[in-house]
Amino acid sequence: MPKRSIYDLNVKDKRLFVRVDFNVPLNAGQISDDTRIRSALPTLKYALEQGASLVIASHLGRPQGERRREFSLRPIAIRLNELLGQPVTFATDCVGPDALQAIEHSGQNGVTLLENLRFHKEEEANDPVFSASLASLADCYVNDAFGSAHRAHASTTGIVPHVTDAATGLLLARELKYLGALLDNPTRPFTAILGGSKVSGKLEIIKNLLPRVDTLLVGGAMSYTFFKARGLSTGRSLVEPDLVNATRQIEKEAKTHRVNLVLPCDHLVTTALQADASHENLDVEATGIGDRLGVDIGPKTQQAYANIIKESATVVWNGPMGIFEISPFSSGTLAVAMAVAASNGTTVVGGGDSVSAVGQMGIAHQITHISTGGGASLEFLGGRTLPGVEALPNS
Ligand code: ADP
Ligand code: MG
Repeated sequence: MPKRSIYDLNVKDKRLFVRVDFNVPLNAGQISDDTRIRSALPTLKYALEQGASLVIASHLGRPQGERRREFSLRPIAIRLNELLGQPVTFATDCVGPDALQAIEHSGQNGVTLLENLRFHKEEEANDPVFSASLASLADCYVNDAFGSAHRAHASTTGIVPHVTDAATGLLLARELKYLGALLDNPTRPFTAILGGSKVSGKLEIIKNLLPRVDTLLVGGAMSYTFFKARGLSTGRSLVEPDLVNATRQIEKEAKTHRVNLVLPCDHLVTTALQADASHENLDVEATGIGDRLGVDIGPKTQQAYANIIKESATVVWNGPMGIFEISPFSSGTLAVAMAVAASNGTTVVGGGDSVSAVGQMGIAHQITHISTGGGASLEFLGGRTLPGVEALPNS
């Protein structure tokens, strides 16, 4: 059931409370990456064009319910002012008289940015009184913070029953559209590429995707637990002994669902986790890994995965193929990124490190949808309902 969207709201002359994700990286008070602020602009601009007054709220970092200067949203108000090209009034508190005064000062069709929601412990505790105080600042509510939708906090769920109308912002709607389509009606053939650090963090996603995909390509550290289960030598590679049985189960389920589950056929092994350590490509069936560790998929695997990606109509990718942070170990991730970018199908990339890899490689614009969600994207793909989405009315 689709959720009510900002397009369904009448916001003219209304005060609109917009929950955004302005949890940007700060370096000595300077914003080092303003992508998250830019991502919210379409929703904010649309609401302003419709004649709304905006009351914008976000968390920043983990101030643990305390007012801490280094987590103030004040620098973000300045950047938002520049990006929107209109004045932004900064409220030194997100509730109470300071908030109200700032909102009144910003006036009709104005913009107010509230101070960090998490300066109040009631935010994360989803306190009903605090939720009502937030709601009292506005008439309607829009949630555009997909990255916080997996948490039931005052500003993501508690506030909703206290406002006259609520909806998704454009960013959240887009996330639900693309991630939802992967689970509900993917165009086939549908390929999932899963990598990254651990099987344990990805078990739910694997289980939820298996009945839906045609092919599952495995890479990254996760492969080694599968290799262990198959009796291959893994050296000092990252293996999760507790999950060896889980991978056997996954292989069984893949057969039941007739999923083509593909593991790397070759890999890059190194003597140490350093760029200058000696390394070489080995077939995974080969003996001789010794006490070295596997840190990337090899060239044969890269080619095989690229061919499958090319033939796919829908591709979802989460988790780097290797330790891409160390440049000699990044070619597998780069090859997969290039193949996904070159695909004519619908392509979706999710997960903090995968998204940052795609950004570093300069191919973000060639991906159909890059999920901004981090943990929320992974929970969604794992089949969990997100409280911040649940709380919003259906259209
Ligand atoms: P995402 O944030 O995209 O969901 P993860 O957090 O699951 O991805 O995994 C990312 C991390 O996995 C990266 O820091 C990368 O170095 C690590 N990784 C990938 N392959 C290996 C490997 N073979 N051995 C150890 N770590 C790996
Ligand atoms: Mg990660």
